[in-house]
Amino acid sequence: MVEGDRALEGAEVDAEVGREVAEDGVVVLGVGVELLFGDALADGPVAFDEGLGRGTLGFRILRGILYAWREMAKQASSGLGPGYGSAEDEGFIVKYRARCHCGAVRYEVGADPVDAKVCHCRACRVLHGAPMQWAAIFHKRDVRLVAGVEDLRFYNSELGRRERVLPCKVSCAQCGTLIADEGRRMWLAFPTLFDFGTPPQVPDAFLPTCHIFYATRVTDMDDGLPKWSGHKDESTLL
Ligand SMILES: [Zn+2]
Ligand SMILES: [Zn+2]
Repeated sequence: MVEGDRALEGAEVDAEVGREVAEDGVVVLGVGVELLFGDALADGPVAFDEGLGRGTLGFRILRGILYAWREMAKQASSGLGPGYGSAEDEGFIVKYRARCHCGAVRYEVGADPVDAKVCHCRACRVLHGAPMQWAAIFHKRDVRLVAGVEDLRFYNSELGRRERVLPCKVSCAQCGTLIADEGRRMWLAFPTLFDFGTPPQVPDAFLPTCHIFYATRVTDMDDGLPKWSGHKDESTLL
């Protein structure tokens, strides 16, 4: 049984997630709640009609559910996890918005990128189905997810495993759009997902400052930018 002490805080969360709670302990539940809170529901007398999503619950169970809802809402708002911006942070000033092709995954950034690069490595080319990859680098604190935490898919290309082992690729499980490279400390966003208006006006801060892994390129770039054979500052300038 989950703790029931924080039932009042739970009630606030309940309003946020849009569920109804009546004084008499009748709760209108969302689909799937009986699975999420199986233990709490099993702990006492409960009438639960799955079809209507409506149940009459004992008070102790009700408190448990409110607490669990609060935890669930907290998890949803933390989005990408510790280190990232939060949807609840009122000090977060949205500077740019990004979304995947289908719109299931949406996020915001509150700052300009600290750098932007074009990568020609084979992993980027294969995974993106493109001759090169353009990435803009943000501190995690300046990035916050606003939708689609359950639609995120992670892939570690070095291990070849579909796991969130950093650094890894982040994509949308619904449409397959690659969202970002998630590093240990930074979020490498793909600016092609950003809303820069129509036609797009790309801010200077997003423009690449160099090419990396240029030694493995499939096409030449004549743009006057520095071209590193591998990682920036750690390889040969070509
Ligand atoms: Zn999508
Ligand atoms: Zn790469």
